[in-house]
Amino acid sequence: MKQCSKCKSIKSLEEFSIGTTGRPVSICKECIRQYSNRWYQKNKEKINEQRKKYYLNNKEKVNGQKKKYRNKRRRTDSTYRLLCNLRCRIYKVLKGRSKSASTMKLLGCTMEQL
Ligand SMILES: [Zn+2]
Repeated sequence: MKQCSKCKSIKSLEEFSIGTTGRPVSICKECIRQYSNRWYQKNKEKINEQRKKYYLNNKEKVNGQKKKYRNKRRRTDSTYRLLCNLRCRIYKVLKGRSKSASTMKLLGCTMEQL
């Protein structure tokens, strides 16, 4: 048993994360969760902003990584390859029938989700 230094309640060791020292940290998991939730709520916009900024600044890098990943998967994963082909085929059909975006709306999803 161990007492949390934050909420002062005594909990079993399972309720404490193991720190970098190999020993349980002094704050229980519940308190950490609450703390990180609060932190996230407080910094949500900042985090999103940073993520967006990072993406804009590293667009080519990010896209390059994605492309590399996709290529690798296409080579190694046959199911993924099939899905890609299917997606491609559907896309072509859709494009042939309708040039507007309304078809997508009818489908209820974007190509990315498909
Ligand atoms: Zn606690």
